[in-house]
Amino acid sequence: MIVRDKIMQKLKSMNSRRNFLKKTGLVSLGVVAAASCKNIAKEEGKTKRLVTPVKPLALSTWRNGIPANEAAWEVLKNGGRALDAVEAGVMVVEGDPNDMSVGYGGRPDRDGIVTLDACIMDEHGNCGSVAAIENIKHPISVARKVMEETPHVMLAGDGALQFALEQGFKKENLLTDKARKEWEEWRKTSDYKPLINIENHDTIGMLAIDQKGDISGSCTTSGLAYKMHGRVGDSPIIGAGMFCDNEVGGAVATGMGEMMMKTLGSFLIVEFMRQGRTPQEAVEEAIRRIVKKVPDYQKFQTGYLAVNKEGEVGAYCIHKGFNYALYVNGENKLIDSDYYLKGNK
Ligand code: ASP
Repeated sequence: MIVRDKIMQKLKSMNSRRNFLKKTGLVSLGVVAAASCKNIAKEEGKTKRLVTPVKPLALSTWRNGIPANEAAWEVLKNGGRALDAVEAGVMVVEGDPNDMSVGYGGRPDRDGIVTLDACIMDEHGNCGSVAAIENIKHPISVARKVMEETPHVMLAGDGALQFALEQGFKKENLLTDKARKEWEEWRKTSDYKPLINIENHDTIGMLAIDQKGDISGSCTTSGLAYKMHGRVGDSPIIGAGMFCDNEVGGAVATGMGEMMMKTLGSFLIVEFMRQGRTPQEAVEEAIRRIVKKVPDYQKFQTGYLAVNKEGEVGAYCIHKGFNYALYVNGENKLIDSDYYLKGNK
């Protein structure tokens, strides 16, 4: 056979393979094996499910995601709703005085006042949030009440506190001795610029998929240590600190909130997944957006965590050091996130 015939034959067989792939609804990229490993295939920009989605599952940011996932799992394993799981999960961390970035025991603002931000979103796209709320240990539960009991999405400051008290929440002092002493130390040298230390970021963002396959998300924090009084970060902003869409998946953020607010990171990630990207591709693209748009991004840490409805997970951050807890198939594991500054300095 002459060379030209050989080439023609090869092209013919490639075409019939491509037609077969198209007919069977598999991918046009010739990466069926890889796609089925990843659980999904892409066809003309749409996500196509190939196998049964992994569920239930819970995932949350940082080390304290481990106990949070345990609490969420109690809800999920008994057939409970993802919304209840993401509330119960982050409440564990809100109530822990040793977690100094969330709820009770959180570091105060520069004036020594603990102010908290939180948001929650359910499988129907309902959402609620509170910003700069004081003296309430479980802002996530107030956010849920905003979602369920008011016509609004967000309440802030004194109004949020007033609403919480009306709903039966108790006023409590959230500033622990440990946090107060640290703040007093900080005040000795402070020039009132809130310095960002990546170790201080352990805000919890959580996503869960229940046995029915419904997704919900939550996010709660005391925000940046020694921030200006009244500063609100990304965590209570729907679409910045957290977003989920029951057709697609969800995303949560942690780290320097201003960067997520400038790029509406969590919403962006969900939209990337809607367009057919895997959660890992989506979180990496959202970090690259920050790199492109925020000139001093290297000074700060930002981490994103995402899951799609198939149960695929993605995590990415700017600096080394972000991790997340994933509870799936009866196992709760802490996993290190990949990061941008590895090869991009
Ligand atoms: N994202 C939070 C904020 O900017 C802080 C954090 O994640 O630690 O308020």
